[in-house]
Amino acid sequence: MRKTEPGAAPKPPQAETAEARPRKNRSSAALPAVKSPADKPVAAERHFKGLALGAGIAVGPAYLIEDQTPVLDHRPIPADAVEPELARLDGAVTKSRRQLGKLRAQLAMLPAEGQAELEPLIDAYLQMIGPSRLLRGARRRIEGLVAAETAVLEETEALAAAVMAVQDRDRAGLKRRADEIREIGRRLIRNLTETPFQSFAKLAQGTVLVMDNLRPADAALLSPARLAGVVTEEGGTDGHTAVMLRALGIPAVLGAHGVTSVIRSGDLLVLDGGAGTVTLHPSAATMASARRASATFARERQKLAQLQRLPAETTDGQCVELMANLEVPLELPLIAQAGVDGIGLFRSEFMFMNRPHLPDEHEQTEVYRAAVEAMGGDPVTIRVLDWGGEKEIEALQAAGIAEVSGLNPALGLRGIRMLLRHPDLLETQLAAIMRAAHFGPVRVLLPMVTTIDEVRATREIYQKVARRLRRRGEKLPERLPPIGIMIETPAAALSADALALEADFFAIGTNDLTMYAMAADRADADVAKLYDPLHPGLLRLVQFTVEASLRLRKPVSVCGEMAANPKLTPLLLGLGLRCLSMNASAVPRVKQVVRGVAIDDCARLARRVMEQAEPAAIRAIVEDFAGKPV
Ligand code: PEP
Ligand code: MG
Repeated sequence: MRKTEPGAAPKPPQAETAEARPRKNRSSAALPAVKSPADKPVAAERHFKGLALGAGIAVGPAYLIEDQTPVLDHRPIPADAVEPELARLDGAVTKSRRQLGKLRAQLAMLPAEGQAELEPLIDAYLQMIGPSRLLRGARRRIEGLVAAETAVLEETEALAAAVMAVQDRDRAGLKRRADEIREIGRRLIRNLTETPFQSFAKLAQGTVLVMDNLRPADAALLSPARLAGVVTEEGGTDGHTAVMLRALGIPAVLGAHGVTSVIRSGDLLVLDGGAGTVTLHPSAATMASARRASATFARERQKLAQLQRLPAETTDGQCVELMANLEVPLELPLIAQAGVDGIGLFRSEFMFMNRPHLPDEHEQTEVYRAAVEAMGGDPVTIRVLDWGGEKEIEALQAAGIAEVSGLNPALGLRGIRMLLRHPDLLETQLAAIMRAAHFGPVRVLLPMVTTIDEVRATREIYQKVARRLRRRGEKLPERLPPIGIMIETPAAALSADALALEADFFAIGTNDLTMYAMAADRADADVAKLYDPLHPGLLRLVQFTVEASLRLRKPVSVCGEMAANPKLTPLLLGLGLRCLSMNASAVPRVKQVVRGVAIDDCARLARRVMEQAEPAAIRAIVEDFAGKPV
């Protein structure tokens, strides 16, 4: 029997079943017909609502997979069973490592975005079954006289709970990390109990998979050519599984509560990944509208794909630079294909995570160099480490650097503040960036700057590092890369004119700027309504920054999430911005908007917006301009 563990390679594509995949004939005639009353009594339609992943329409019979995770009791063992249990754990670790190694080798078959999502995840899994805290803890528990599965389960739950207890504004990130720990625990337990891995072998062509929870590693093994769509009870829109399904172009609705208790294998479903809806027993009218929607979706995808090579130019001939944000290097192929003008934000944090030691100058140089070379002459803006004292980063702790900073980490030793406290760390990173600049255009970006002194102090270190590298005979460009700053605190925004005297360019980080301007943590549901980038307070900070930079002739961009929202593009252009940096997948839609507007209209829109006192009024004007809700 084929299992979903590594080694079970998806079969080669056979026929198209879903509407989300490009380059194939997606005529609506391919959708299965509703069974006539003569075949079967027609059951009443039922509707389920879940999270929209935005990947097309699927129609097909359901295939329900029940959760097979073994239920475990706390199992004590006698003292003489400790050695055999430790050996069982070692065996399960070896087996899990082999499975993950195979899965990693298969990644090359996935689209770039899927590879980018899964490779760091598998590396994190592999690290957790290396000399990790998880395994040390599990061994200690076995020595405390419990069976290996009990030890793994209890240790993973304890670690996941510890992660969730961390005071971090990124709750979704913490939840993902806790899920990763539980996932590796589940893999070990399956191997310990010899429970078979989820099997998709019986999936018939064109079926819609229905299950409680699809794990990212399993999602990677789904064949888009066999599968019409996926519906799950659990899962979020920004989880690894969601990214994988989007990358594979499989229509999906996650978090649709109640589906597994009502839907049975063989039931006909219509799934709308864009609306986040699932219809069980669709009527003839629902089927007809699914056909129309899938045809429209296919046309839109085709149009967006054609945009890639066209310039981001407004109808009145103004060029807009569209750049990409990079979080992990595996995004590079996707970015290189996205038709962008460079990397506007290279978040370097990934290099410091999930590892016991800090990356040295050589290792960092190679990572930056790869990005510079992949961009073929377009600039790469490398942001030096933006780490807050609250986050657990083993390598920083091992180097005695990570400190718990004060009561409120968001207001503590973050970004450039932490780097200036630990200049060795900054010097190493600056040296690597300068060396990478030998291979193509690079810019240095400083996070969380609030004072001119911070920029001056960094420049002094920068010059010192350059002298040292030149003495060492390293090849550096004659003109060192420019140094820019993130504008992500109200203080920085309101002193942008002064900061422009020291900084070579600005990147407005609207994610943090909104949080600090509104004094509202973006991960706190109680104040979620306040965290609103359309508040006049935030927009005035953006406007002040842009005006100062234009006056002082310093380039300025927006690299927060606002830049990725096509409905906000006209407003940002109207405020004077001509450079936006976003995740690569957002580029086509933003480009489409840029190519459809005139700067004069955008400027008029911005003027009207800036006269408003309330976010609701601003939202209404922006929506009216976009023709859609923001
Ligand atoms: C921002 O704050 O808007 C930003 C781009 O930085 P990050 O999201 O990495 O904090
Ligand atoms: Mg930020």
